[in-house]
Amino acid sequence: MSGARSKITPRQLLARVRDVMAGAGAGQDRLNRVVSLIAGGMGAEVCSVYIRRAGDVLELFATEGLKQAAVHQTRLRVGEGLVGVIAARTRPLALSDAQHHPAFVFRPETGEEIYHSLMGVPILRGGRVLGVLVVQNRTRRRYVAEEVEIAQTIAMVLAEMVAGGELIGGEELIPTDGIAVAPLQITAARFHRGMGMGLAVLARPHVQVTRLVAEDLEEEHARLRLAVTDMHGALDALLKDETLADGSEHRGILESYRMIAEDAGWLGRIGEAIDGGLTAEAAVMKVQNDIRARLSQVSDRYLRERVHDLDDLAQRLIKHLVGEDEMNPSVPLPEDVVLIARNLGPAELLEFDRSRLRAVVLEEGSPMAHVAIIARALDIPMVGQAKGVLGRVEEGDPLIVDGDHGSVLVRPGQNVRQSYRDSIAERDRQKASYAAVRDLPAQTCDGVRVEVHINAGLRIDIPQIVETGADGVGLYRTEIPFMVRHDFPDVETQAALYGEILEQAGDKPVIFRTIDVGGDKVLPYWDSSAGDNPAMGWRAIRICLDRPFILRHQLRALILATAGRDLRMMFPMIAEIAEYDAARRMLDMELDRMRKQGKPMPKSVCVGAMLEVPALVFQLPGMLKRVDFLSVGSNDLVQFLFASDRGNSRLADRYDPISPAVLRVLSEIVAQCDAAGVPVSLCGEMAGNPLDAMALVGLGFRRLSMAPSSVGRVKAMIRSLTLSPLAAYMARISDSPDHSVRDKLRTFALDHGVMI
Ligand code: PEP
Ligand code: MG
Repeated sequence: MSGARSKITPRQLLARVRDVMAGAGAGQDRLNRVVSLIAGGMGAEVCSVYIRRAGDVLELFATEGLKQAAVHQTRLRVGEGLVGVIAARTRPLALSDAQHHPAFVFRPETGEEIYHSLMGVPILRGGRVLGVLVVQNRTRRRYVAEEVEIAQTIAMVLAEMVAGGELIGGEELIPTDGIAVAPLQITAARFHRGMGMGLAVLARPHVQVTRLVAEDLEEEHARLRLAVTDMHGALDALLKDETLADGSEHRGILESYRMIAEDAGWLGRIGEAIDGGLTAEAAVMKVQNDIRARLSQVSDRYLRERVHDLDDLAQRLIKHLVGEDEMNPSVPLPEDVVLIARNLGPAELLEFDRSRLRAVVLEEGSPMAHVAIIARALDIPMVGQAKGVLGRVEEGDPLIVDGDHGSVLVRPGQNVRQSYRDSIAERDRQKASYAAVRDLPAQTCDGVRVEVHINAGLRIDIPQIVETGADGVGLYRTEIPFMVRHDFPDVETQAALYGEILEQAGDKPVIFRTIDVGGDKVLPYWDSSAGDNPAMGWRAIRICLDRPFILRHQLRALILATAGRDLRMMFPMIAEIAEYDAARRMLDMELDRMRKQGKPMPKSVCVGAMLEVPALVFQLPGMLKRVDFLSVGSNDLVQFLFASDRGNSRLADRYDPISPAVLRVLSEIVAQCDAAGVPVSLCGEMAGNPLDAMALVGLGFRRLSMAPSSVGRVKAMIRSLTLSPLAAYMARISDSPDHSVRDKLRTFALDHGVMI
């Protein structure tokens, strides 16, 4: 330190600050002592701490050198005066002639006119400004970079004191966006409608660092070296992991992690922060704070994305440093949770405590991904592609998620909260009005009956048949119970589960779809490496035909469960007749086996195929002779028709299921099924959207299967629809050269009073 009056080393100063902060006495008293210590230790005549209060105001909380009467009186808005500029830019400022700086504002109550030089640093925590630490001197002195570093290190320790809630209340600590702006709205893509209000919970919570000040620098450097080696080893092991080919996106992230992890600049800065007196974990946090604060204001998207990578990496390194055992026990979940994640796997969502979950916000993701399907099944409002959400929302922030309009309101004001509360109440009333049509048939105004079924995959879904007045379960995704377990369920376990489902469903039919894992549906206990293109890889029936024991066990379980009942089932991802025949043979073998063993048999057996692969459309004549029914899986079919990954957020809006190409394929399928007298249904997500469902009914579908939460509105749509003009209109527009006919159909619905 170049300050001539400095009597102690920076590390001693840091240790003393730490001791005072951790010592006895009221928060304000300790802060008063801390500013005196810093002033003395840094050779400054003035040391002041400004703390950010609600409304983005920086209040002078303690000072050594300025007039004490100004404490709690002097207040500056973020952006106002030099202190405000430091907070707004989240960057240090060192000026030898502060009073001539254009941003300088004079506050007479402070008596600061006699001090010419000023150096201030933001007090940052998690990349957010909690306040500003300032030192001033009478002379026009130049502060050197080393002094700025020292001030930043002390500011980091101060941040913990501010965040501890002793100086200002917890309510005020709730951060506002990035630098200054309260409240904030983030636009996002709609994944599942509905509104949810609650407090932000990060799906993978950050580790809190509790030990900040180093006792022994060498030891901290050694700890850092060891943790970096551990982390490299762990990253290399992950990269070598063959299953990683499953998710090329993850691989890309890990590869860029490794590059950053080896970046000498990053590690060098962490090393310097240790030299400043911090523990290794606090040093990682400090460097990360600086980076977040700087890069959060950069408009370059690539650089902003890197902030997340760095964040994740810093968290990994901190975890290696503190060790899993020492990690803070997870804090209790709030009553109302809004779950925030970059992306989520279906199992992660299923494992979450649903009784508290009000909404989900993903920074990435796609509406067709399985996690979104599960959110729809559970009727949890969900938005995705919420750019920057992870950098702008902190654990505990109040949030409103509007799945209808695709927005996230961060830290909304009281009025906004009230109006959303009203709106949620209105939705509940609307739901109640759907309940009024619950026991009425889904029949158009001109008397055409449409069967409305639910898609299910969890036991808790089944009561929805009765609650929504659906006709049955059109798709039971058997893989979902597999996904939440830690091992492969045996025949008995599966049979018990299927039996329970049938028991619960009573006389309503349930169509079980055999296991469809692979793609984004990964079983935690099973290496099902599917190559670089998992949706088109080793999944569903392909796995079952290559590993027959899986399918045979499942078929055995289904037969056992349906003894004395009707067995209705279908095979997913059938691409050719031969595959269906092979799967069907296995079923027949299992039926024979059971019969020979004298086991009670199903009353009837009804077997279908899912039409999800375009090749099957061209084999329909042969297929329709074999199957009892066909179910169109439009999620997969549309992704394969357009060669457009259903899980890729960049492509989420590129193609529309209600487009001429899809409508023509669907209409061809319906025509052939009708001609062959084979029932056909559609169980993809589009069936649950009233406008899309209207198009499907217009094309001739008389069976739809959808998330339970959609049944009421689709039924209401059907009951308000007169089919004959729609069918004629659809025939006219199916040749349109448009990207989508959604707008045309919406206009039709509005003109004809259809409730969409
Ligand atoms: C589909 O592909 O439309 C379908 C219903 O199956 P899943 O979404 O489970 O792949
Ligand atoms: Mg599918």
